Parts: sequence; structure tokens; C-alpha cells
Amino acid sequence: MKKYDYIICGGGMSGLSMAYYLINSTLKNSKILIIEPEEKNKNDRTWAFWEDGINPFQSIVYKTWNAVNFYNTSGEKQLLDIGDYQYKIIRGIDFYKFVIPKLKESGNVTWLKSSVEAISDEGNSASVQTKIGDTFTADFVFDSTYKLKLNLPENYNILQHFKGVVVQTEESFFNPDIPDMMNFGVEQKNDECRFIYILPFDEKTALIEYTLFSESLLTQEEYDAELHKYITNDLKLPAYKILEDEFGVIPMTDEATEEFPSAHVVRIGTAGGSTNPATGYTFQGTQKRLQKIVAQLEKTGKPQLKSNWWQKRHLLYASVLLNVIKKKRYPIGDVFGQMYAKNKPQTMFRFLDGESNIFQELSLMASTPIKHFGLAAFDTIGRNLKRIFT
Ligand SMILES: Cc1cc2nc3c(=O)[nH]c(=O)nc-3n(C[C@H](O)[C@H](O)[C@H](O)COP(=O)(O)OP(=O)(O)OC[C@H]3O[C@@H](n4cnc5c(N)ncnc54)[C@H](O)[C@@H]3O)c2cc1C
Repeated sequence: MKKYDYIICGGGMSGLSMAYYLINSTLKNSKILIIEPEEKNKNDRTWAFWEDGINPFQSIVYKTWNAVNFYNTSGEKQLLDIGDYQYKIIRGIDFYKFVIPKLKESGNVTWLKSSVEAISDEGNSASVQTKIGDTFTADFVFDSTYKLKLNLPENYNILQHFKGVVVQTEESFFNPDIPDMMNFGVEQKNDECRFIYILPFDEKTALIEYTLFSESLLTQEEYDAELHKYITNDLKLPAYKILEDEFGVIPMTDEATEEFPSAHVVRIGTAGGSTNPATGYTFQGTQKRLQKIVAQLEKTGKPQLKSNWWQKRHLLYASVLLNVIKKKRYPIGDVFGQMYAKNKPQTMFRFLDGESNIFQELSLMASTPIKHFGLAAFDTIGRNLKRIFT
């Protein structure tokens, strides 16, 4: 049985970020094992996020925008000046190419190409069993191996699922200065929440993504047909070729997260609850959380963070929003439209990041359709009480 200081299960976005923060901390001499079955040499995703500053991966930010477009379900456009914030993207491949060599250079990180079969807390340490039969132990195991659950009837389990293509036109077509962050002006089939986003890299190249917040997935042919319909009929894109495509499913759920399931095991990334239940954004939430966990490790020797009940109010807000989506109480594109129209986009971003204050939250709540959200709030609170007392 081989012993490490830290074992990181899964070398994707959160696992690699965790290792990166560790080798750049006072814990840099720790022995780290990363267990990951993939090579991580493909551009398998692009992370979009907003930020009012810079982040540790600033040097690989692929594109930055100072304003974004938002369209409600009637196709009415709002150009959002996002103030001190910037909307940014990092491409998966750039992230992997940046982080992995830095981990190798550190000399303290071992990369094992395998899958994790089981993780267990042994009392004074944690152990990880791999598919190839080895068992490793560590003071702490960071687990990012999330398994998507498709059916959770007790929870507001909605999926954010999407298919996107990077297109390149022969002639200049896109405005590279302004992405369409969310365009709900597409057919809302089955009353589901459906939208397009366009991230223009330059005048000829853009990522166009067809996205749904709903309970079940489409077939690949259906995503392709909707994308093609939008590109041809709405966007009227001239001659183009597809350079890349991506497909993803992100959980939007208020299922209670066990970020710290035991003393020596910590879940990170989507597995640790860093996916915003109301939007699916995960990148920035994960970065902020991991930096706090590493700071806590440096300070106390333990990774566990405490959050008080007041901070948890943001989870309640997310539950209410998920209830509105799941019960189809009001078109969510129009909810966001009204919120962006009556509040500064920066306030919305702070709210969605769980960093707003109560006055901003009251102002945002007042700009939602009160009756529909009131019913959703009653439903959510009633369900939570039922959970507590049964
Ligand atoms: C296509 C796509 C686009 C996205 N776009 C955005 C976006 O624009 N903005 C945003 O904020 N979020 C976005 N997300 C959501 C989220 O940021 C990503 O899913 C992100 O990669 C989550 O990080 P993670 O570390 O939790 O999971 P991953 O990055 O998926 O890493 C998990 C790793 O664990 C490995 N693994 C799985 N099982 C095992 C096992 N048994 N043993 C060992 N290793 C295992 C996997 O191979 C993988 O490398 C997107 C997701 C997808 C799929």
C-alpha cells in the first residue's frame, strides 16, 4: 500500500485545479497522487464565467468581453453593460496544457492512468482502490468523480444539457466584442427552458451552443436539428465549416451535497456541490472553493470549511428557481429578462455567485413574477419541512 499526503481522484477541472493550488501553496512539498483514466489532451469543453478581477489562470483566458447580449423569449434584446465584471472563457485544452506540465515540473505529483473503484475513510487516513487493483492511502483524498443521477424524484433534479459547435465562416460575420450570453428567443418546445448562446472568438469563428434546462435528454439528432435550424433560419450564417463540437450534461439540483463526507475525504468540483444549481456554472465556483480549502489546509492542517445557516439562504433561492423551472410556473428566460432589466447585471452576477447582500436580494426578488415565485417558495419550504419531520 503506497502512502501519499493527498490523493486526487479525477484529473479534470477541479482535480487539476486542486493540485495546482497545492503546488503553489506552503504545502508544495507534499506528495500528491492524481488518478485519472483519460489523457486530457482534447478540447473537450470551454468554460465561460464572469469575474470582477483576475484569476490564477488569467494567462490562458482565451477571450474576454466587457458587455453581453441577453434575449428574452420574445426575442427582445438587452445589451448588458457588466461594469467592473468581464465575461471570459478558458478552453479545456489550454487549461490541461497549462496545468499538467506545471504539476510534472513540481516533482511531487504522480499521475496514475487508472480509474478509482472505491474510496474509504480508515479513521486516521483514507484509502483509494483502483481498477488495476492497487490500493493507495493518503491523509486526505479529494474526490471529483461525480456520477450523474438522472432520477431523483425527491429533489428538483433538472439537467442542463447542451450541444455546441465551433463554426468558422468564410466571410466576417460575428461581432467579436459581444457574445450572446443567453438567447431564449428560440422555440420553447414542450414549455421547456431552451436557449442559444454564442461566444464569438473573432469575426469568423464562434462557439454556438443549443442548451436546455429540463428533466430528460434529447437524442443527438434532435440537438443537431435544433442547432442547424437556428444557424440556418435565425442566424442565417453564410458558408461555414464546423471545427469542433462539444456535448455536455450538468446537474441542476438541490440535492444536499456531502462536500465533506468524512474526516479524510473531500468532494470537489461538481461532486462537491460547486455547480451553481440555478445556472450550471461551475468553473468559477470551484476555483473560489478550492482556494479556500487549500488556505484552510495551510492554516489548520484540515480541509473542512464551515458554512453558517445564513450563507445557506442562497441554496433556498436556487431551490425556488428550480421549482419554477421544473413545475413550468413561468418562462425562466422572461424571469431573467425582468431581473436584468430592473437590476444591474453586476447585482445579478453577485446574487448568482452567492455573494449578494440581503438588500440586493430583496430588490431582485421584487423584480420576479411575485405570484409564481411565491407559490414556488411555499412549495419548496413545505417540501423541506416534510423532509425534516418525516
Ligand atoms: C461540455 C461542457 C461544457 C461546460 N461549460 C461550462 C461553462 O461554460 N462554464 C462553467 O462554469 N461550467 C461549464 N461546464 C460545467 C463544469 O464546469 C465542467 O463539467 C467541469 O469540467 C467540472 O469539473 P469537475 O472537476 O467537477 O469534473 P471534470 O472536469 O469532468 O473532471 C472529472 C474527472 O474525473 C475523471 N473520472 C471520472 N470517473 C473516474 C474514476 N472512477 N476514477 C478516476 N477518474 C475518474 C474524469 O475522466 C474527469 O477527468 C461544462 C461542462 C461540460 C461537460
